[in-house]
Amino acid sequence: MYDENNIFAKILRKEIPCNIVYEDDTSLFFYDINPLFKIHVLGIPKIACKDYSDFIEKSDSSLRSQFFENIKIVINKLDISKSGYRLVSNSGTDGGQEVPHFHVHILGGEKISAIK
Ligand code: AMP
Repeated sequence: MYDENNIFAKILRKEIPCNIVYEDDTSLFFYDINPLFKIHVLGIPKIACKDYSDFIEKSDSSLRSQFFENIKIVINKLDISKSGYRLVSNSGTDGGQEVPHFHVHILGGEKISAIK
């Protein structure tokens, strides 16, 4: 069950401000409030979905493709295409997800160490 009061749902409803990198009808990209790397941006689709699996279930192919194309637009905007980047999406307890609205972390601006 999707929690309508999660912090990203509030950001989408403009009840909480965020520092926007890119936005269109399908999705919103904004700076992480607690960046773990020099560049740390979050991307969220504008539908109620709690994680990647839920996003795939609830989205149509047009929304899916637009969301992933927007990630590329943001990567170009951040100018990290050449230096490299990491895309991460956490899900549930084992995945260490804190905010239960599907999101992709776009990380870069410095060398990111191995996951484990
Ligand atoms: P996750 O652990 O994958 O659920 O990541 C949630 C991310 O959301 C964390 O990196 C937080 O720093 C970030 N975050 C939480 N609240 C906000 C907020 N109000 N604005 C921007 N980022 C946030």
